[in-house]
Amino acid sequence: MAAISLRNVIKRYGKGPKANQVIHGVSAEVNAGEFVVIVGPSGCGKSTLLRMVAGLEEISAGEIFIRDRLVNHLEPAERDIAMVFQNYALYPHMSVFDNMAYGLRIAKVPVPEIKARVDKAAKILELGHLLTRKPRELSGGQRQRVAMGRAIVRQPQVFLFDEPLSNLDAKLRAQTRLEIQKLHREIGVTSLFVTHDQVEAMTLAQRIIVMNGGVMDQFGTPEEVYSRPATTFVASFMGSPPMNLLKHAPGVRTGMILGIRPEHLALGASGWSVQVEYVEMLGAERLIYGRIGEEQLVMRADESQPPPVAGDTLKIAARQDKLHWFDAGSGKRAA
Ligand code: ADP
Repeated sequence: MAAISLRNVIKRYGKGPKANQVIHGVSAEVNAGEFVVIVGPSGCGKSTLLRMVAGLEEISAGEIFIRDRLVNHLEPAERDIAMVFQNYALYPHMSVFDNMAYGLRIAKVPVPEIKARVDKAAKILELGHLLTRKPRELSGGQRQRVAMGRAIVRQPQVFLFDEPLSNLDAKLRAQTRLEIQKLHREIGVTSLFVTHDQVEAMTLAQRIIVMNGGVMDQFGTPEEVYSRPATTFVASFMGSPPMNLLKHAPGVRTGMILGIRPEHLALGASGWSVQVEYVEMLGAERLIYGRIGEEQLVMRADESQPPPVAGDTLKIAARQDKLHWFDAGSGKRAA
Protein backbone atom coordinates (compact mmCIF):
# COMPACT_ATOMS: atom_id res chain seq x y z
CA MET A 1 0.00 0.00 0.00
CA ALA A 2 1.27 3.46 -0.90
CA ALA A 3 1.68 5.81 2.04
CA ILE A 4 0.60 8.82 -0.01
CA SER A 5 -1.24 8.66 -3.34
CA LEU A 6 -1.80 11.68 -5.51
CA ARG A 7 -4.30 10.96 -8.28
CA ASN A 8 -4.61 13.55 -11.00
CA VAL A 9 -4.45 16.38 -8.48
CA ILE A 10 -5.38 19.80 -9.82
CA LYS A 11 -5.27 23.18 -8.09
CA ARG A 12 -6.92 26.36 -9.26
CA TYR A 13 -6.78 29.61 -7.36
CA GLY A 14 -9.87 31.72 -7.82
CA LYS A 15 -13.17 30.76 -9.43
CA GLY A 16 -14.86 30.88 -12.83
CA PRO A 17 -13.22 32.45 -15.87
CA LYS A 18 -10.65 34.22 -13.69
CA ALA A 19 -9.44 30.96 -12.13
CA ASN A 20 -5.72 30.40 -12.35
CA GLN A 21 -4.75 26.73 -12.60
CA VAL A 22 -1.34 26.19 -10.99
CA ILE A 23 -1.19 22.38 -10.58
CA HIS A 24 -2.10 20.54 -13.75
CA GLY A 25 -2.92 16.96 -12.81
CA VAL A 26 -0.17 15.43 -10.71
CA SER A 27 -0.21 11.68 -10.04
CA ALA A 28 2.35 9.98 -7.80
CA GLU A 29 2.55 7.09 -5.36
CA VAL A 30 4.88 7.50 -2.39
CA ASN A 31 5.86 4.23 -0.72
CA ALA A 32 5.60 3.62 3.01
CA GLY A 33 8.75 4.83 4.74
CA GLU A 34 10.03 6.63 1.68
CA PHE A 35 11.73 10.06 1.73
CA VAL A 36 10.53 12.01 -1.31
CA VAL A 37 11.74 15.50 -2.19
CA ILE A 38 9.63 17.85 -4.32
CA VAL A 39 11.99 20.21 -6.12
CA GLY A 40 11.65 22.98 -8.69
CA PRO A 41 12.14 26.72 -9.15
CA SER A 42 10.11 29.33 -7.33
CA GLY A 43 6.46 29.37 -8.38
CA CYS A 44 6.37 25.84 -9.86
CA GLY A 45 3.77 24.68 -7.33
CA LYS A 46 5.84 22.75 -4.77
CA SER A 47 4.35 24.37 -1.69
CA THR A 48 0.84 24.24 -3.09
CA LEU A 49 1.23 20.48 -3.62
CA LEU A 50 2.54 19.97 -0.09
CA ARG A 51 -0.14 22.19 1.42
CA MET A 52 -2.83 20.17 -0.34
CA VAL A 53 -1.43 17.00 1.26
CA ALA A 54 -1.38 18.81 4.61
CA GLY A 55 -4.95 20.02 4.23
CA LEU A 56 -3.98 23.69 4.27
CA GLU A 57 -5.19 24.18 0.69
CA GLU A 58 -8.34 22.84 -0.88
CA ILE A 59 -7.93 20.36 -3.76
CA SER A 60 -9.71 21.63 -6.90
CA ALA A 61 -9.92 18.19 -8.57
CA GLY A 62 -8.39 14.75 -8.17
CA GLU A 63 -7.79 12.71 -5.04
CA ILE A 64 -5.23 12.49 -2.26
CA PHE A 65 -4.96 9.36 -0.13
CA ILE A 66 -2.86 8.96 3.01
CA ARG A 67 -2.53 5.21 3.35
CA ASP A 68 -5.96 3.96 2.34
CA ARG A 69 -7.89 7.02 3.51
CA LEU A 70 -9.20 9.60 1.07
CA VAL A 71 -8.22 12.86 2.80
CA ASN A 72 -9.61 15.45 0.33
CA HIS A 73 -12.14 16.72 2.84
CA LEU A 74 -10.35 15.98 6.12
CA GLU A 75 -9.06 18.76 8.37
CA PRO A 76 -5.25 18.95 8.83
CA ALA A 77 -5.61 17.61 12.38
CA GLU A 78 -7.46 14.54 11.08
CA ARG A 79 -4.80 13.56 8.53
CA ASP A 80 -2.19 12.05 10.85
CA ILE A 81 0.58 14.30 9.50
CA ALA A 82 3.12 16.62 11.10
CA MET A 83 4.62 19.60 9.35
CA VAL A 84 8.02 21.30 9.74
CA PHE A 85 8.20 24.80 8.27
CA GLN A 86 10.89 27.29 7.41
CA ASN A 87 9.50 29.57 10.11
CA TYR A 88 9.28 27.12 12.93
CA ALA A 89 8.04 29.65 15.51
CA LEU A 90 8.83 28.10 18.86
CA TYR A 91 7.05 29.49 21.92
CA PRO A 92 9.70 31.86 23.34
CA HIS A 93 8.57 31.68 26.98
CA MET A 94 8.50 27.88 27.06
CA SER A 95 11.40 25.50 27.63
CA VAL A 96 12.54 23.09 24.94
CA PHE A 97 10.71 20.30 26.77
CA ASP A 98 7.47 22.29 26.93
CA ASN A 99 7.74 23.32 23.30
CA MET A 100 7.93 19.68 22.31
CA ALA A 101 5.25 18.58 24.79
CA TYR A 102 2.73 21.32 23.98
CA GLY A 103 0.82 19.58 21.21
CA LEU A 104 0.59 16.37 23.21
CA ARG A 105 -0.77 18.21 26.26
CA ILE A 106 -3.44 19.82 24.09
CA ALA A 107 -4.30 16.35 22.76
CA LYS A 108 -4.60 15.17 26.40
CA VAL A 109 -1.93 12.51 26.09
CA PRO A 110 -1.17 11.10 29.59
CA VAL A 111 1.76 12.81 31.33
CA PRO A 112 4.09 9.77 31.58
CA GLU A 113 3.54 9.08 27.89
CA ILE A 114 4.39 12.72 27.04
CA LYS A 115 7.62 12.47 29.01
CA ALA A 116 8.57 9.20 27.33
CA ARG A 117 7.94 10.56 23.84
CA VAL A 118 9.77 13.86 24.43
CA ASP A 119 12.73 12.07 25.99
CA LYS A 120 12.93 9.68 23.06
CA ALA A 121 12.75 12.48 20.48
CA ALA A 122 15.32 14.51 22.43
CA LYS A 123 17.66 11.53 22.39
CA ILE A 124 17.33 11.01 18.63
CA LEU A 125 17.91 14.73 18.04
CA GLU A 126 20.65 15.05 20.69
CA LEU A 127 18.68 17.68 22.57
CA GLY A 128 18.67 15.83 25.89
CA HIS A 129 20.97 18.33 27.61
CA LEU A 130 18.97 21.33 26.37
CA LEU A 131 15.48 20.42 27.56
CA THR A 132 15.29 23.13 30.22
CA ARG A 133 16.56 25.93 28.00
CA LYS A 134 14.46 28.61 26.36
CA PRO A 135 14.55 29.00 22.55
CA ARG A 136 16.58 32.26 22.79
CA GLU A 137 19.37 30.26 24.47
CA LEU A 138 19.69 27.96 21.44
CA SER A 139 21.53 28.22 18.14
CA GLY A 140 19.57 28.32 14.88
CA GLY A 141 20.33 24.67 14.22
CA GLN A 142 19.21 23.63 17.68
CA ARG A 143 15.94 25.52 17.25
CA GLN A 144 15.36 23.75 13.98
CA ARG A 145 15.91 20.44 15.81
CA VAL A 146 13.35 21.39 18.46
CA ALA A 147 10.90 22.12 15.65
CA MET A 148 11.58 18.64 14.29
CA GLY A 149 11.21 17.22 17.79
CA ARG A 150 7.77 18.76 18.02
CA ALA A 151 6.81 16.88 14.84
CA ILE A 152 8.38 13.57 15.94
CA VAL A 153 6.60 13.35 19.31
CA ARG A 154 3.26 13.33 17.52
CA GLN A 155 4.23 10.02 15.88
CA PRO A 156 2.48 10.87 12.63
CA GLN A 157 2.06 8.66 9.56
CA VAL A 158 3.69 11.34 7.42
CA PHE A 159 6.18 14.18 7.87
CA LEU A 160 5.80 17.20 5.62
CA PHE A 161 8.77 19.57 5.37
CA ASP A 162 8.35 22.98 3.71
CA GLU A 163 11.84 24.38 2.99
CA PRO A 164 12.83 23.85 6.62
CA LEU A 165 16.50 24.64 6.03
CA SER A 166 16.30 27.87 4.08
CA ASN A 167 16.82 30.10 7.12
CA LEU A 168 20.09 28.40 8.05
CA ASP A 169 23.53 29.33 6.75
CA ALA A 170 25.29 26.99 4.31
CA LYS A 171 27.30 25.06 6.90
CA LEU A 172 24.39 24.57 9.23
CA ARG A 173 22.23 23.55 6.32
CA ALA A 174 24.62 20.77 5.37
CA GLN A 175 24.79 19.62 8.99
CA THR A 176 21.01 19.69 9.46
CA ARG A 177 20.65 17.76 6.22
CA LEU A 178 22.74 14.97 7.75
CA GLU A 179 20.60 15.07 10.88
CA ILE A 180 17.40 14.75 8.86
CA GLN A 181 18.89 11.75 7.02
CA LYS A 182 19.84 10.15 10.32
CA LEU A 183 16.41 10.85 11.73
CA HIS A 184 14.78 9.22 8.74
CA ARG A 185 17.02 6.16 9.04
CA GLU A 186 16.09 5.81 12.70
CA ILE A 187 12.36 6.34 12.61
CA GLY A 188 11.59 5.68 8.93
CA VAL A 189 8.47 7.84 8.70
CA THR A 190 7.20 8.57 5.18
CA SER A 191 8.36 12.09 4.35
CA LEU A 192 7.61 14.73 1.72
CA PHE A 193 10.20 17.50 1.66
CA VAL A 194 9.93 20.67 -0.44
CA THR A 195 12.99 22.61 -1.59
CA HIS A 196 14.11 24.79 -4.50
CA ASP A 197 17.69 23.58 -3.97
CA GLN A 198 18.68 20.75 -6.30
CA VAL A 199 21.69 19.81 -4.17
CA GLU A 200 19.42 19.39 -1.16
CA ALA A 201 17.10 17.25 -3.29
CA MET A 202 19.93 15.06 -4.58
CA THR A 203 21.45 14.48 -1.14
CA LEU A 204 18.26 13.90 0.87
CA ALA A 205 15.86 12.10 -1.42
CA GLN A 206 15.25 8.44 -2.04
CA ARG A 207 13.11 9.69 -4.92
CA ILE A 208 12.67 13.15 -6.37
CA ILE A 209 9.60 14.80 -7.89
CA VAL A 210 10.75 17.52 -10.29
CA MET A 211 8.04 20.16 -10.80
CA ASN A 212 7.99 22.45 -13.82
CA GLY A 213 5.25 25.06 -14.02
CA GLY A 214 2.68 22.96 -12.16
CA VAL A 215 3.53 19.77 -14.07
CA MET A 216 5.46 16.82 -12.66
CA ASP A 217 8.23 16.38 -15.25
CA GLN A 218 9.83 13.39 -13.54
CA PHE A 219 9.55 11.17 -10.45
CA GLY A 220 12.65 9.06 -9.96
CA THR A 221 15.71 8.30 -7.85
CA PRO A 222 18.44 10.97 -7.73
CA GLU A 223 20.48 8.73 -10.01
CA GLU A 224 17.65 8.41 -12.59
CA VAL A 225 16.85 12.09 -12.54
CA TYR A 226 20.50 13.01 -13.04
CA SER A 227 21.54 10.38 -15.54
CA ARG A 228 18.27 9.97 -17.48
CA PRO A 229 16.41 13.30 -17.24
CA ALA A 230 12.93 13.00 -18.76
CA THR A 231 12.89 16.54 -20.18
CA THR A 232 15.28 19.35 -21.07
CA PHE A 233 13.89 21.19 -18.03
CA VAL A 234 14.99 18.41 -15.65
CA ALA A 235 18.30 18.15 -17.50
CA SER A 236 19.10 21.79 -16.92
CA PHE A 237 17.58 22.14 -13.43
CA MET A 238 19.38 19.18 -11.84
CA GLY A 239 23.14 19.68 -11.90
CA SER A 240 25.43 22.68 -11.59
CA PRO A 241 26.58 23.90 -14.00
CA PRO A 242 23.59 22.57 -15.93
CA MET A 243 23.66 20.07 -18.76
CA ASN A 244 24.66 21.61 -22.11
CA LEU A 245 21.66 21.59 -24.47
CA LEU A 246 22.79 21.99 -28.06
CA LYS A 247 20.52 22.63 -31.04
CA HIS A 248 22.92 23.81 -33.70
CA ALA A 249 26.20 22.05 -33.00
CA PRO A 250 27.62 19.82 -35.77
CA GLY A 251 26.03 16.37 -35.59
CA VAL A 252 22.67 17.56 -34.21
CA ARG A 253 19.70 17.01 -36.54
CA THR A 254 17.00 19.65 -36.99
CA GLY A 255 14.21 19.16 -34.48
CA MET A 256 16.49 17.55 -31.91
CA ILE A 257 18.41 18.77 -28.88
CA LEU A 258 21.61 17.10 -27.79
CA GLY A 259 22.29 17.08 -24.04
CA ILE A 260 25.74 16.52 -22.63
CA ARG A 261 26.89 17.16 -19.05
CA PRO A 262 29.98 19.36 -18.50
CA GLU A 263 31.83 16.41 -16.94
CA HIS A 264 31.28 14.27 -20.03
CA LEU A 265 33.27 16.57 -22.29
CA ALA A 266 37.01 16.21 -22.72
CA LEU A 267 39.80 17.98 -24.54
CA GLY A 268 40.95 15.82 -27.42
CA ALA A 269 42.58 15.60 -30.79
CA SER A 270 39.19 15.61 -32.51
CA GLY A 271 35.73 16.92 -31.69
CA TRP A 272 33.98 20.28 -31.82
CA SER A 273 36.05 23.41 -32.30
CA VAL A 274 35.29 25.51 -29.27
CA GLN A 275 36.21 29.18 -28.83
CA VAL A 276 37.08 29.74 -25.18
CA GLU A 277 35.31 32.75 -23.64
CA TYR A 278 36.33 32.49 -20.01
CA VAL A 279 37.57 30.02 -17.42
CA GLU A 280 36.39 29.72 -13.81
CA MET A 281 39.06 28.36 -11.47
CA LEU A 282 37.37 26.45 -8.62
CA GLY A 283 40.32 24.80 -6.93
CA ALA A 284 40.10 21.09 -7.65
CA GLU A 285 38.31 21.73 -10.91
CA ARG A 286 37.86 24.40 -13.51
CA LEU A 287 34.96 25.30 -15.72
CA ILE A 288 35.75 26.22 -19.28
CA TYR A 289 33.07 28.31 -20.98
CA GLY A 290 33.10 28.61 -24.74
CA ARG A 291 31.15 28.66 -27.97
CA ILE A 292 30.62 26.36 -30.92
CA GLY A 293 29.39 28.94 -33.44
CA GLU A 294 26.18 30.26 -31.85
CA GLU A 295 26.04 27.68 -29.08
CA GLN A 296 27.24 28.19 -25.52
CA LEU A 297 29.10 25.28 -23.97
CA VAL A 298 30.59 24.59 -20.55
CA MET A 299 33.09 21.87 -19.80
CA ARG A 300 34.39 20.64 -16.47
CA ALA A 301 38.14 19.97 -16.41
CA ASP A 302 40.60 18.93 -13.73
CA GLU A 303 43.91 20.61 -12.97
CA SER A 304 46.06 18.09 -14.86
CA GLN A 305 46.57 20.45 -17.79
CA PRO A 306 47.32 24.16 -17.88
CA PRO A 307 44.06 26.11 -18.19
CA PRO A 308 43.20 27.62 -21.56
CA VAL A 309 42.69 31.37 -21.82
CA ALA A 310 39.97 33.42 -23.47
CA GLY A 311 40.37 33.41 -27.24
CA ASP A 312 41.96 29.95 -27.45
CA THR A 313 40.36 27.43 -29.79
CA LEU A 314 40.09 23.93 -28.33
CA LYS A 315 38.98 20.59 -29.67
CA ILE A 316 36.35 19.24 -27.30
CA ALA A 317 34.83 15.78 -27.65
CA ALA A 318 31.69 14.40 -26.00
CA ARG A 319 31.59 10.93 -24.47
CA GLN A 320 29.43 8.99 -26.89
CA ASP A 321 27.89 6.82 -24.17
CA LYS A 322 26.76 9.95 -22.28
CA LEU A 323 24.71 11.70 -24.94
CA HIS A 324 21.08 12.61 -24.23
CA TRP A 325 18.62 13.28 -27.05
CA PHE A 326 15.51 15.39 -26.65
CA ASP A 327 12.72 16.41 -29.01
CA ALA A 328 13.18 20.14 -29.63
CA GLY A 329 9.42 20.74 -29.84
CA SER A 330 8.22 19.01 -26.67
CA GLY A 331 11.50 19.03 -24.74
CA LYS A 332 10.88 15.35 -23.92
CA ARG A 333 13.56 12.72 -23.87
CA ALA A 334 13.83 10.88 -27.18
CA ALA A 335 16.65 8.43 -26.38
P1 ADP B 1 6.55 27.22 -5.10
O1 ADP B 1 6.30 26.64 -3.76
O2 ADP B 1 7.05 26.21 -6.08
O3 ADP B 1 7.39 28.45 -5.08
P2 ADP B 1 3.74 27.87 -4.98
O4 ADP B 1 3.10 26.55 -4.79
O5 ADP B 1 3.89 28.76 -3.80
O6 ADP B 1 5.13 27.68 -5.72
O7 ADP B 1 2.92 28.69 -6.08
C1 ADP B 1 2.53 28.12 -7.33
C2 ADP B 1 1.76 29.14 -8.11
O8 ADP B 1 0.52 29.42 -7.47
C3 ADP B 1 2.45 30.47 -8.27
O9 ADP B 1 2.21 30.95 -9.56
C4 ADP B 1 1.79 31.35 -7.24
O10 ADP B 1 1.80 32.69 -7.64
C5 ADP B 1 0.38 30.80 -7.20
N1 ADP B 1 -0.23 30.95 -5.87
C6 ADP B 1 0.25 30.44 -4.71
N2 ADP B 1 -0.56 30.73 -3.67
C7 ADP B 1 -1.59 31.46 -4.20
C8 ADP B 1 -2.78 32.05 -3.65
N3 ADP B 1 -3.06 31.96 -2.34
N4 ADP B 1 -3.59 32.71 -4.51
C9 ADP B 1 -3.31 32.79 -5.82
N5 ADP B 1 -2.23 32.25 -6.40
C10 ADP B 1 -1.37 31.59 -5.60
